Amino acid sequence: MEKQVTRREMIRWAGMGAAGLAFSRGLSAAKLFGADRSARMPNFVIIFCDDMGYGDLGCYGHPTIRTPNLDRMAAEGQRWTDFYVGASVCTPSRAALLTGRLPIRSGMCSDTRRVLFPDSARGLPQSEITISEALKPQGYASACVGKWHLGHLPQFLPTNNGFDYYFGLPYSNDMDRVGGQGRQAFLDPKVEYWNVPLMRNGQIVERPADQNTLTKRYTEEAIRFIERSRNRPFFLYLAHTMVHVPLFVSDEFRGRSLRGLYGDAVEEIDWSVGRVLETLRRERLAENTLVVFTSDNGPWLTFDQHGGSAGLLREGKGCTFEGGMREPCILWWPGTIKPAVIHDLGATMDLYTTILRLAGTEPPTDRVVDGLDLRPVLFGRGPSPRDTMFYYRGARLYAVRKGPYKAHFITQSAYGGDKPVEHDPPLLYHLGHDPSEKYDIAKDHPEMIEAIRKEVERHRSDLVPGEDQLATRIEKDP
Ligand code: MG
Repeated sequence: MEKQVTRREMIRWAGMGAAGLAFSRGLSAAKLFGADRSARMPNFVIIFCDDMGYGDLGCYGHPTIRTPNLDRMAAEGQRWTDFYVGASVCTPSRAALLTGRLPIRSGMCSDTRRVLFPDSARGLPQSEITISEALKPQGYASACVGKWHLGHLPQFLPTNNGFDYYFGLPYSNDMDRVGGQGRQAFLDPKVEYWNVPLMRNGQIVERPADQNTLTKRYTEEAIRFIERSRNRPFFLYLAHTMVHVPLFVSDEFRGRSLRGLYGDAVEEIDWSVGRVLETLRRERLAENTLVVFTSDNGPWLTFDQHGGSAGLLREGKGCTFEGGMREPCILWWPGTIKPAVIHDLGATMDLYTTILRLAGTEPPTDRVVDGLDLRPVLFGRGPSPRDTMFYYRGARLYAVRKGPYKAHFITQSAYGGDKPVEHDPPLLYHLGHDPSEKYDIAKDHPEMIEAIRKEVERHRSDLVPGEDQLATRIEKDP
C-alpha cells in the first residue's frame, strides 16, 4: 500500500532533493510526480579529470594555478578532503567509478598490465552494470564525452555499455605513439606524435586526434548534450583527456598560466567546468542537477613539471600512498547541497550507489557492490557510511584505511621498477595527524593493526576475484 504524501513532506523534500528522499521512503515515482516524473528526476554530471593531483586546484591550495570556476563550485557546494578513487591508474579507476565495484571483482585490474592498451583484446565485461545501464530503465538519456579506457573494441565501447552517445578517445592520449624522440616527445609534444583516434559513437572521425582542441570540443559536446536533453533526466559522463601527458591546450590558454603548460591545461579544464555550470544555470537545470568534479588518479610525477602535484600527500599516480588515490572532489547541487568542507571518507564507487538511489533505483543485489550511499552527507543529515578504504595495486591489496588510520602491508614505488616490499607488522600512519604518511606509529597502536587485519579478513571472506581482463592481447596474424 502506498503511503500518503503530506504537503509538509513535499515541501521538505523539495528543499532536500525530492526524488532521492521520496524514493528512500518507498514512495513510487508516479505517486509523487505523476505525469511530470521525467521532468523532476535529478540529472547527473560527472566531470572526471585525468591524472589531476590533490594539490592542483586553487581551492585545494595550489599557489599559482588559477581555477576561479572550480573555486566557486567548491564555495557553493561540498569540497571533500578525503575522497578516493578505486585504483591509482586509469583503467581500473574508471571501472570502479562506473560499476561501483572494486576492480578486483570485475577483473579490470591485473598484475601483468596495469591498464588497457591499443592491443588489448578485452574490456569491461558485459556482465558488469554501469551507471548508465542502471539508469536506462529510469528513463535517463546518457552521454560519455571524453576518454573511455574500458575497452576500444566495438563490444566494449560506451554505446555498448548503456550510453546513448559517445564522443572521445577510446584510451589514453599517450598511446599509438608514432613520432618524436624518447622522453623529449612528451616534454615538447606535437599532435602528430600520437596517432590516437577520436571517435563518435562507433566510428573514428579523426586520426590523429587534434589534441590541442580536445578540451574545447569535449566542452561543446557536453553543452550540446545538456541542451538537447533539457526536457528529460540525463546522465553526462564528461571524462577529460587532460591533464594526462602529453599536455595539449587550445590557443586561448597557451602560455597563460603562471604554472606553465600544465597550469594552462588545468585552467582550460576550469574554463570548461564554468561553461558546463553556466549552461545548467541558463537552462534552469542547476537546481535539479548533481554535478561532481574529481579525477581518476593522482599526478604522474615521473614527468616532472608536466605532471601535477599531490600537494602535501605522499607520492602520486601508480602507487598506494595517498597521492596516488586521494583526489580533489567537489559536489555541487544548488538548493540541495549546502556549502561545506567535508572531512568524511568517500569514494568514486559511492557515486554509483548514491546516483542510483537518487534516481529511484537500487544497485544490483546479485553481486557485491562496494559503493555506499552518500545521500546523508549530501543532504546534511548525517555522516558518511564509509569508514574503510581498500588500496589495491593490480590484483593485490597493498593497504587499508580504517577511520584515520592507514596500514601498508606492501609498499612499492609508483614506476621505479622495484619489487614490492612486504611489511609485518604493517606500516601504520594516522592520516589526520600525518596526511603526508611520514611517521610510522605501528608499535604504538597494535590494536589498530589488529582492527585493520579483521577488516581485511572480512573483505577477503566474500571476495571472488574476476577473471583478468587486462592481460589478453589481440592475436596477430602469423
Ligand atoms: Mg589517469
